[in-house]
Amino acid sequence: MVTRQRAYKFRFTPTAAQRKQLAVEFGCARFVWNRCLDWRSTAWKERQEKHTYVSLNRQVTVWKKTEFPWLSDATAGCLTQALIDQDKAFKNFFEKRGQYPRFKSKWDQQAVRYQLDQRHIKSTYSGGEFLKLPKLGFVKVRWSRIPTGIPKMATVSKDPSGRYFVAFSCEEVVEALPLTGVALGLDLGIKDVVVASDGWKSGNPRHLKGQLKHLKRQQRFLARKQKGSNRRRRQRQRVARIHAKIAAMRQDFLHKTTTALVQRADVIALEDLNVKGMLKNHHLAGAIADVGMGEFRRQIEYKAAWAGRKVIVVDRWAPTSKICSHCGSYQQKMPLSVREWTCPDCHARHDRDVNAANVILKFATAGNAGTDARGGGKNLGGHESLTPVEARTDAEKFIEAACLERAA
Ligand SMILES: [Zn+2]
Repeated sequence: MVTRQRAYKFRFTPTAAQRKQLAVEFGCARFVWNRCLDWRSTAWKERQEKHTYVSLNRQVTVWKKTEFPWLSDATAGCLTQALIDQDKAFKNFFEKRGQYPRFKSKWDQQAVRYQLDQRHIKSTYSGGEFLKLPKLGFVKVRWSRIPTGIPKMATVSKDPSGRYFVAFSCEEVVEALPLTGVALGLDLGIKDVVVASDGWKSGNPRHLKGQLKHLKRQQRFLARKQKGSNRRRRQRQRVARIHAKIAAMRQDFLHKTTTALVQRADVIALEDLNVKGMLKNHHLAGAIADVGMGEFRRQIEYKAAWAGRKVIVVDRWAPTSKICSHCGSYQQKMPLSVREWTCPDCHARHDRDVNAANVILKFATAGNAGTDARGGGKNLGGHESLTPVEARTDAEKFIEAACLERAA
């Protein structure tokens, strides 16, 4: 049996008293984070002293008894957790996986983490709709689904638009999806976010286009408000709410699309788009940043891993839109404006994106993922003779191999 870490995030509505206590928790955790970050940096710069959360935690205890007695109003576990998280941030920095830890601002997202023990869990699930947290008591959570695993930790956060969330991750048993016998190539693009080799098109919801005008207007209003004023604070929340809405719409679209694709196909072939490189091109930048290509790929990969599907990534330099998926001939020119074309060699009529998706599938299933097809000309490493029938057979071989792998 395979287990996976599954993340959950729910919205909740705290009472007035809980909001007050949470403001204390957020404030104290932020204070401890910032103060200790400063302490650590100075200790290292001036005395080459290394600190970990153990020594810093001791310092926090000293502060509680002397300079900052109000730190005792916060849950001790949350403060310790902030320091443990800071240790992790430093570790990531030293192992070149992240930037130097930064100070936290009260305008950013606020978060604290609670250690959960068995008592909290029992009251969570048996109580149905409540989660019990230290100093807060029962918190009313909107359970959109009930987790089956048991979380060890809960993160409570408040986003800049003033919404409260509780998040945790549970270890759960993975159930592989039944096989469908389908292999799909996917072309990621601008007109449609995804086009599949069987002709399916996702469309492009263009979230930003609709919301962008609105956002720009509200941002302009924000710039005009006097610093430190109540109106400015309210306007900042309004802008944050628009950002949150756009992000939610985008995530919704991506999750629905990736789930549907993973359910439909045993083998999914993708092109390794150099997203960063494409972002430099201004015409494409808006569209790509809008739909979140990197996030699309991340979702496909983890969902495929859970479902027991195979994902094949084709070399990013393969000129997929210039190759005929029917006969394999190579076209020297294929401007972005050409949406449909007829192959001069085999006279097959192609939709630009569906053809590209088919080429990606062919490259992937013929085991050509990672080959350099930049050579140009007709002779693309001998793949020009590959017919769709042969490609399908190869896809079937992959599905077979995937079955065997799973059985083992
Ligand atoms: Zn052709």
